[in-house]
Amino acid sequence: MIYLDYNATAPIKPAVRAAMIEAMDRGGNPSSVHRYGRSARKYVEQARAQVAALVGVKAAQVIFTSGGTEANNLALTGLKVASYAVSAIEHDSVLAVQQQAVRLPVTSNGINDLTAAEHLLAALPAPGLVSVMLANNETGVIQPIVEIIAIAKKFGHLVHCDAVQALGRLPLDFTSLGIDSLSISAHKIAGPQGMGALIVREGLPLQPLLAGGGQEQRRRAGTENVAGIIGFGVAAQLAADDLRHMPQLRLWRDYLETSLLAIAGDEAIVLGQNAPRLANTLCIALKEISSETQVMAMDLAGVAVSAGSACSSGKVKASHVLQAMTQADSVVGCGLRISLGWNTQISDIERCVQAWRGLYLQTRRDGPLQSVAA
Ligand code: PLP
Repeated sequence: MIYLDYNATAPIKPAVRAAMIEAMDRGGNPSSVHRYGRSARKYVEQARAQVAALVGVKAAQVIFTSGGTEANNLALTGLKVASYAVSAIEHDSVLAVQQQAVRLPVTSNGINDLTAAEHLLAALPAPGLVSVMLANNETGVIQPIVEIIAIAKKFGHLVHCDAVQALGRLPLDFTSLGIDSLSISAHKIAGPQGMGALIVREGLPLQPLLAGGGQEQRRRAGTENVAGIIGFGVAAQLAADDLRHMPQLRLWRDYLETSLLAIAGDEAIVLGQNAPRLANTLCIALKEISSETQVMAMDLAGVAVSAGSACSSGKVKASHVLQAMTQADSVVGCGLRISLGWNTQISDIERCVQAWRGLYLQTRRDGPLQSVAA
């Protein structure tokens, strides 16, 4: 089986796994005063420094959470503002929290429309919270966050950025960006699932989501997930190597993209093709063939890929991201996301091309296996 679904979860790195097993064997609650507790605390704080270093902040600015979802929820409920604006292509863990938020549109390339943002943010009651992701999980399209921050600040708004997919794939410096809060998640950088962090600007008041103990400087109650935090720290430290690997992944992704387009011609379309994109992500729609059908056919051919983000309930629904990009009906329910990562080999790409050629030929021979129009 070939795994090309790194944007869903990157396979854990051996060093992360080893550090987590050691942590579980060591035990100890970081709040205990005896030596087991003090040892657990020492490792948690070391991991906090490792995560902080990856995003360019002080350790005290890192609040560990149960993942990117909780980090987004914490920012969008815990920062006290008068109004909200979110980009139309945000992850559900942003969109579902502030459903009344003003939606910032994107262009057909999947990039936030800056002219529209200027208009909408000028009219937003200040201080508002503007939530724009750094890179989209389905298309990989990188958002003009520097420009969004400049517009938001001009009108007195705060900015939250979901950097879950950008972490380890783009260099990130929270402090020089001048942002207010940032979400990250461990399992996208080959760390453990169920582990993430919210980074907040120093001195910014934040109302916790969970009531209880005083952990995480009273910003996130509950005994820390010590093994998860330690795994996140190791993954963060190793993520610098992943950044060095990006030019290679970009070559392979481009080769994959060119190969698939050569097979299907204009029966396939690459989403966000003309926009700046993460090096590891390809979102391609085979027109009229539902994403679900494509994912299943690829799985049968031994290649694990994804239909995008909207399959958390096990059922693929039409992508709100492709909808926001005002793509045609023949495209919206037909996206396939292929994402590469630290353990991808060129042979995986070749196998993926073969499997996709098989899928293409089958659908053209038999007619759409399951047309989206049906
Ligand atoms: N934000 C984005 C852009 C994501 O892609 C994801 C997960 O796919 C999340 C947030 C949620 O992160 P987690 O799975 O850690 O809850």
